Amino acid sequence: MNIHEYQGKQLLSQYGVAVPLGKDCATAEDAKKIAEEFFKAGESMVVVKSQIHAGGRGKGTFKSGFKGGVKLCKTADDVYEKAKAMLGQVLVTKQTGEEGRLVSTLLVAGAPEIKKEFYCAVLLDRASSRPLMMVSVEGGVDIEEVAEKHPGKIIKETIDPAVGMMPYQARKLATALGLKGDLIASAAKLFLGVYKTWWECDASMVEINPLCIIVGKDGKEELVAVDAKIGLDDNALYRHKNIQAMRDLAEEAPLEIEASKFNLNYIKLDGSIACLVNGAGLAMATMDIIGHFGGSPANFLDVGGGASKEQVTAAFKIIVSDPNVKGILVNIFGGIMDCNVIATGIVAAVKETHLSIPLVVRLEGNNVVAGKKTLADSGVAIITGDSMADAAQKVVKAVGK
Ligand code: GDP
Ligand code: MG
Repeated sequence: MNIHEYQGKQLLSQYGVAVPLGKDCATAEDAKKIAEEFFKAGESMVVVKSQIHAGGRGKGTFKSGFKGGVKLCKTADDVYEKAKAMLGQVLVTKQTGEEGRLVSTLLVAGAPEIKKEFYCAVLLDRASSRPLMMVSVEGGVDIEEVAEKHPGKIIKETIDPAVGMMPYQARKLATALGLKGDLIASAAKLFLGVYKTWWECDASMVEINPLCIIVGKDGKEELVAVDAKIGLDDNALYRHKNIQAMRDLAEEAPLEIEASKFNLNYIKLDGSIACLVNGAGLAMATMDIIGHFGGSPANFLDVGGGASKEQVTAAFKIIVSDPNVKGILVNIFGGIMDCNVIATGIVAAVKETHLSIPLVVRLEGNNVVAGKKTLADSGVAIITGDSMADAAQKVVKAVGK
């Protein structure tokens, strides 16, 4: 699950990471009110930021033609104008794809003068199987480009998960960024807070781009997280009620939301053959074998080890609501699962959805004889496959590819 920048900053500040003061809002009137408070409190600039689950907002363009999803303003009236131009509009950035994302929330924040922009991120490094903090002096810009063209400009520190990030590691990174004096200690505190956020929230990634040296109200230089992107591990969400509440369904694919209501692992892909499979390993193998015989999968769908009739019906409905689907392959191995439960679910779903596209079913395992009988007696048009290869070939042939 991903969260918005303003929510990410709430989490970060709980772990001691300095962020500019800001508030989220959903109307231009509220944006103006918040801005008035900030100006009254002594801010000389206020920033209006579109909240979508994608980066590159600053350089993005709205479908309305309005340029920039992040705007600096000097007056509350300007904040009102910018907020009006962003809310209810679709923002297209490098990361959204051409369909873009609807902006319905804004973050209005104090915008101190930025002296320098850095990059900082924590993620799980698969090569070392450990958490990794990366920092770079090349902040604010496209970090992928930096990684490609100047890999030496990204400084990495591997963290031992048993002891967590050590203060010396945080200071090492701070010095590597060329920080001096008091900024070393505040950077070290910030890095430890970023790591703690990543660890305690069960995040998959915390990215701060840019992390900035700003000039505080007292004229002193400070370090703050100006942007925040946090991705969380769905499997650990049950441990974090506060983070669950941050879920924004409008940012997620509608079919994936429907699937999650029924505890189905569904991921939409762009092929034409839908798969309904039990077990993630078998689902992967099924997608591969469809590809092997020249087809392309329309989705990944794992109904789990002990799926019910209701789950199978829900899975079918989700599959057929994708207009790209031209055929369905059901591949079930009944270990824990009773094949007859699946067969009953399939028949019910076919009838309920008035299925009109080819359906190939391969059942194997627990109670398979009863399952096959249910399918045969149902009177619905089902092509049966004797093996995975046989079923895959049949479905590829049936969709005509
Ligand atoms: P992104 O484009 O989606 O990554 O959004 P960011 O939050 O990173 O904003 C893009 C750029 O806008 C940053 O790199 C900054 O240069 C600028 N910006 C964002 N927030 C502020 C702020 O509070 N003050 C100032 N001066 N500039 C900001
Ligand atoms: Mg950014």
